[in-house]
Amino acid sequence: MPKLLSKAPAKKAASKSSSAKAIKRVFFFGNGKAEGMASAPTEKDRKLILGGKGAGLADMTSAGLPVPPGFTISVPCCEEYYRDGRKISDAVKKEVIENLAKVEKAMGKKLGDPNDPLLVSVRSGAARSMPGMMETILNLGLNDKSVEGLAARTGNPRFAYDAYRRFIQMYSTTAMGLSKEPMEHLLSGIKNKLGVKTDPEIPADSLKELCQQFKKFYSENMKGQEFPQNPLDQLWGAIGAVFGSWEADKAVTYRRVEKISDLTGTGVNVQTMVFGNKGDNSGTGVCFTRDPNSGANEFYGDYLINAQGEDVVAGIRTPLKLATLNDKMPKVYKQLMAVRKQLETHYKDMQDLEFTVEEEKLYMLQCRSGKRSPVAIFKIAVDLVKEKLLTKEQAIDRINPEDIERLFYPQLDAKTAAGATKLATGINAVPGAACGKVAFTAATAEAEAAKGEKVILVRKETSPEDVGGMHAAQGILTVTGGKTSHAAVVARGWGKCCIVGCEALDIASDNLSFKVGDKVVKAGDSITLDGNTGDVYVGSLPLKAPEQPEAFYTLMKWCDELRTLKVRTNADTPYDAVNAVKMGAEGIGLCRTEHMFFDTEERRLAIQEMIVAESVEKRKEALAKLLPFQRQDFVGIFKAMDGKPVTIRLIDPPLHEFTPKDDAGFQKLSQITGLSIEHIKHRCEQLHESNPMLGHRGCRLCITYPEILDMQVTAIIEGAIEVAKAGGKVFPEIMIPLTIDRKELEIQVIQTKALADKLIKAAGSKVKYMVGTMIEIPRAALLADKIAEVAEFFSFGTNDLTQMTLGLSRDDAGRFLPVYVASEKDGGKGIFKADPFQSLDQEGVGMLVKMGIQKGRSTRPGLKVGICGEHGGESASVKFCHAAGMNYVSCSPYRVPIARLAAAQAAIADKAAAKAKKK
Ligand code: ADP
Ligand code: MG
Ligand code: MG
Repeated sequence: MPKLLSKAPAKKAASKSSSAKAIKRVFFFGNGKAEGMASAPTEKDRKLILGGKGAGLADMTSAGLPVPPGFTISVPCCEEYYRDGRKISDAVKKEVIENLAKVEKAMGKKLGDPNDPLLVSVRSGAARSMPGMMETILNLGLNDKSVEGLAARTGNPRFAYDAYRRFIQMYSTTAMGLSKEPMEHLLSGIKNKLGVKTDPEIPADSLKELCQQFKKFYSENMKGQEFPQNPLDQLWGAIGAVFGSWEADKAVTYRRVEKISDLTGTGVNVQTMVFGNKGDNSGTGVCFTRDPNSGANEFYGDYLINAQGEDVVAGIRTPLKLATLNDKMPKVYKQLMAVRKQLETHYKDMQDLEFTVEEEKLYMLQCRSGKRSPVAIFKIAVDLVKEKLLTKEQAIDRINPEDIERLFYPQLDAKTAAGATKLATGINAVPGAACGKVAFTAATAEAEAAKGEKVILVRKETSPEDVGGMHAAQGILTVTGGKTSHAAVVARGWGKCCIVGCEALDIASDNLSFKVGDKVVKAGDSITLDGNTGDVYVGSLPLKAPEQPEAFYTLMKWCDELRTLKVRTNADTPYDAVNAVKMGAEGIGLCRTEHMFFDTEERRLAIQEMIVAESVEKRKEALAKLLPFQRQDFVGIFKAMDGKPVTIRLIDPPLHEFTPKDDAGFQKLSQITGLSIEHIKHRCEQLHESNPMLGHRGCRLCITYPEILDMQVTAIIEGAIEVAKAGGKVFPEIMIPLTIDRKELEIQVIQTKALADKLIKAAGSKVKYMVGTMIEIPRAALLADKIAEVAEFFSFGTNDLTQMTLGLSRDDAGRFLPVYVASEKDGGKGIFKADPFQSLDQEGVGMLVKMGIQKGRSTRPGLKVGICGEHGGESASVKFCHAAGMNYVSCSPYRVPIARLAAAQAAIADKAAAKAKKK
């Protein structure tokens, strides 16, 4: 393969571009050479100037592949076009004319020549591919005269008139915006009259007649204007149409949905036409160098004989499998195989190719990196390493966090969805899909699930009491809330499909049905959620269960070899812990003990009894009931983690979260405590706090109720001793939450250590443990040096730290944060780059984190530092944690692979930066 990038002329190009006059707007490709290669030496640069399609055409031309000659009007000209009020500037026109002359010379033909016309296609192409979003016009240069010339020259009038009718059709709809249907109608009218089914069966005469009908339609709808006969007029019209398509609704929407905001416009490619519609030794096709669904190293594609342009994609005729081309035109097939190899070697990636065969001669019309399924992403990346086209580092760098996410969610395929009845659309909080019977309360969800039913929990919103039902459900649908609501955060942790903010749902007050418009869905009726789109469907649609491909595990192993940051998980149950280890977790970074209190009614009652207790003695009695439960839970978790560190956080939420909420609850509690219902209600009211997030919670609870700390530490240490005695390995790290002060922490550290040491000694055990704290309040970060004197480790609780640093409540910020995050283009204010509850606010909160680490290590060198909370599983935040010098991140089990990937990418970037520095 010839070298694509000539280095020498770069200097010349640089000096040229420094003088404003010499801006080059149009770039020629043909005769084995492409302009713009030298001035834009990297593929990325080239795409920015030439657009993706233009860059691909230039690359293929330079590589000596058979590309019909043409030229590319650069992307910046599109900006110019809009700036000038949708006008093609004289500068562009001048360069187009010059380059057209080059093409004419290369082809030995003239545009619109009545005897032997040069025909061109006019094609769009932005820096990133937006398939089918912008316009293409083929066969430009034909008019009433040149079509005759073409017919005579080729001896094929059918072909000539087919080309002309296509051109009139495309020009009218694309450049002039006339509607498509009437012309399609005329076409099928002719086919009906002739009694034929497919386009190739229409004879020349009828096509000629069709051209007349099309032109008549054109002038009728263009206020009497005739269809343009001057090829240059056609060219300016087509170029304007391609620029104009950049701002067409569907293109604008596509960019919004795909979050493409960094592109400024499209290039325009004007290229000599080659013809796949010249007969049975011609054709057109699209192919992928590897299977885009499985990733298998197999040539994959479709083609049509005697067809042009989009016929293959448009599904007018059923295309043939690429492999059969080998039988029909073996020479062409062999050549195509060679192109496949050459382009993969050059781009080091799977390519999506478009080609046309004109009378057994192959032409390449497009190449781009091919879109592929999540499974194929991993398979291809790993295979390319095995084939020595990529290094492990390059393969890892190509993977996005979303690629991993998508591997894990059951999916609803688009075809199934298209045929189903959509009920409503909410916010797509957690991707994947789920179907099941509607349950309106957590309790019914649990009960139905216990019977083996699949359920979808539908709630106005969810709260911690619903966790059991949420866990039992296949998917969660809420009427209110945003992507950081309770439902979304909890469901995300489990990788469970979740749609929130589905405001069209009207849940009946009896909690037995909901309405959307005039449709009623009752408890027990089936619905399906598509968490990718936020759509809710009637009935139970078939889902595709994901299976992680071998290549995923291989790639993850490479990540582990390269990263230095450890990855732990947030897990509250042995089940979660086992799951997380399978996902590659190297420890638990956050085990929330209070979730254990909700688990069964027995436990709930015990904690409630503790809360309403009148005296220390009574409180201790109630706590004694909880002790065995907690101990057993810890035993289970320690066993599951098999010697990996387990960070256990002592009780964190305010007590009122545990109190009974209804009469039945009050009654039950009254029965077991012997206290009057009035008394219990009063006690519960007493616990009410006007701002519980800033109230009596976290380690403040154990300052006033030290017996809670005693019970929890006892459960942890006794659990550890039990596992150790049975020959297991254990390493508990006891974590005190919400610290704001050194002395506050010291009191609890002393209490914890005294008790733990006593228990260990009494048991004759050698269990080792650590006591540390969470840094989640700005004061703790500011005073981290003092706090580190008494804390053996830090874990940054960035959920609370974000709330408190920004002074924003995570639960309420949904009302305005979207406006802060959305860019001005999308109707927002663009104040934040990202939702600070999803991606760590590196500028503000990050400053506290960095300061906390540095101060902490100033008094305790080697202080172990981690992060727990949503950010620990978000790619950019993980990279920040790596750079800040943390020892580990901790995240939900399903995000562990994402964190492993991000940690590896951060380490790779480090290495590359160090290498660059050396040079
Ligand atoms: P898209 O961006 O939608 O893929 P293209 O610009 O690639 O649009 O054009 C669509 C199709 O039109 C191509 O796949 C090819 O089949 C046909 N086409 C475009 N230019 C030419 C050409 N110069 N000669 C023959 N066919 C062409
Ligand atoms: Mg197109
Ligand atoms: Mg294309």
